[in-house]
Amino acid sequence: MSFFSTRGGSAVTASQAILRGIAPDGGLYVPAMFPMVSAEKISEMAGMSYNERAVSVLKLFLEDFTIPEIEAAVNAAYSPERFEDPAIAPLKQLDDATWAMELFYGPTLAFKDMALQLLPHLLKKSAEKNGEEREVCILVATSGDTGKAALEGFRDVPGTSCTVFYPLDGVSDVQKLQMVTTGGKNTHVIAVRGNFDDAQTGVKELFGSEAFIAQMNEQGRTMSSANSINLGRLVPQVVYYFSAYADLVKQHAIRVGDPVNFCVPTGNFGNILAGFYARNMGLPIGRLICASNRNNVLTDFFHSGIYSTHRTFFRTISPSMDILVSSNLERLLYEAADRDGGLIRTWMSQLKDCGSYSVGDQRREWMEGMFWGECADNKDTLTAIRQRWEDDRYLLDPHTAVASHVLREYRKQGGRDNTPTVIVATASPYKFAADVLTALTGENAGGDAFRASEELEKLTGVPMPEQVRKLQELPVRHTAACDKDKMGEAVLQAFA
Ligand SMILES: *Cc1c(COP(=O)(O)O)cnc(C)c1O
Repeated sequence: MSFFSTRGGSAVTASQAILRGIAPDGGLYVPAMFPMVSAEKISEMAGMSYNERAVSVLKLFLEDFTIPEIEAAVNAAYSPERFEDPAIAPLKQLDDATWAMELFYGPTLAFKDMALQLLPHLLKKSAEKNGEEREVCILVATSGDTGKAALEGFRDVPGTSCTVFYPLDGVSDVQKLQMVTTGGKNTHVIAVRGNFDDAQTGVKELFGSEAFIAQMNEQGRTMSSANSINLGRLVPQVVYYFSAYADLVKQHAIRVGDPVNFCVPTGNFGNILAGFYARNMGLPIGRLICASNRNNVLTDFFHSGIYSTHRTFFRTISPSMDILVSSNLERLLYEAADRDGGLIRTWMSQLKDCGSYSVGDQRREWMEGMFWGECADNKDTLTAIRQRWEDDRYLLDPHTAVASHVLREYRKQGGRDNTPTVIVATASPYKFAADVLTALTGENAGGDAFRASEELEKLTGVPMPEQVRKLQELPVRHTAACDKDKMGEAVLQAFA
C-alpha cells in the first residue's frame, strides 16, 4: 500500500508518511486505495481482543511493517499498565438503540491516547526502516489536551524525545498540572509567554528554520510532528470503529451486515474521518453524525457545501472542539473531489487567501448521503449531561454531551432514523468535573477542579480515575518558560 498527498504529490510508503507527518506540498497523506474487510472477517473480530482487532486492521495499511512489528507496537501501546479498562475501548449500552464507546481509559483520560500511545512506536520503527539514526524530536504546541497525551505517549520511548509548548495563561489548571508533573527522561515542557497562536506559530517557524534544523542536526537530532494530520494518528483511530461494531455483534445487538450509525464530537475532523475510512473499507456504517459545539463551521459546511472561517471564535465548555479550521477535512474533500489533487490545491488556496471555499451542490449531496451535521451550545450541552444522567444514569463529559444532544436532534429531524447508534465518548467526565457538576446540580460549581471531582464522585458514585486523585500529590518537574521569540533557544537549553 502506498500513500499519496491530497494535493497530488508522489507516492510514499506508510513508514515514510508517518516519519514526515505532512507531505512536502503541504497536503495530507492518503492511502492509494481503501483495503476491503469482508463480512466474514468482521464476524471473526467479534471473537478477538482489542489488540488482535488492532493488528488485523493496521496491517492492511502498514504494509512495510512486519506483523510481529505491528504486534509489538500494539501490545506496548494498549497494555494493562497504560489502559485502565482491559477492553481498551469498551462499549456501554445507554438505551434501546444507543451505546457509548468509551475511549478515555488511557493515561490522559481522553481519546487522543488511542492514537498517541501507538504513534511513538510506529514512528520509532519508521525511523529505523528509513535509515534515520538521529534522535527523533517531537515538538508540540498545545492548547491543552494534545500536549499531555503526546508527553505520555513518547515518555521513555528510546530514540525519541517530546517537547511541549503551552501558552502560559491559556490552559486550565488541571491541564497545566498534568503537563508539568510528567515523568520520563525524554520529556520537556515549556511555558510560552503568549497565547496558543504564538506557541503554534513559534513551533511552525522552528520546523521551517534552516539555522535551527542545522543546530539540531549537529546534535544528532531531527524534528517530527505528532499533529493529528499524521497518518500514524489516523490509522489507530480506524480500529475502534471496527471494534465497536464487532462488540455489537458479540452482544447480539446486531447481525453482521446490519447498519450502525456513529455520532462523533468533532473538532479537527480526525476522529470522524477515521469512521469514514472504516465505512470505505466495508464496515456497514449508515450515517456519521458530526457533532459540533458553538464553533459550528462544520455544521454549516454540511448544510451549505461552503466552508467559511469568517466567523467569531467562541470559548466553550468543550474546549478540545474549539476550532475553526478542521485540518483533517481535507482528506474527505479529496474523496469528494474524486481524488483530484489540483482541485484540493484550489480550495485550500481559496481558504488561505479568502477564508472560504465552496464544493458545489453535487459534492455536497454526495457527502449528505453519509454525513449529518448539527451543533450544541453550552446550554444544550449542560442539559444533555443532566438528561442522560436522569434517564440512563450515564455520566457524560461536555464533549460527549455535545454528541448526545446532536443525536437527539438527529432522531427528531432525521426521518426518525432508529438505526443502532454508537456515541463516541471522547473524555472522562472527571477531566471536566466542575462543568459536569454544574450540569447536575444546576449551581455553578466554581473553579476548584479537585473539590468538584470529589463532590461529583459523592453525588454519582461513578469512580474518580486514579490519575485525577494522584495529580494533587505529584511533584512539579517542569518549570521552564520562555518568550515567544526565544522558543528555539529554549529547546536547545532543555536538551543541554
Ligand atoms: C480532540 C478532541 C475532540 C475532537 O476530535 P477531532 O479528531 O479533533 O475531531 C473531541 N473530544 C475530545 C475530548 C478531544 O480531546
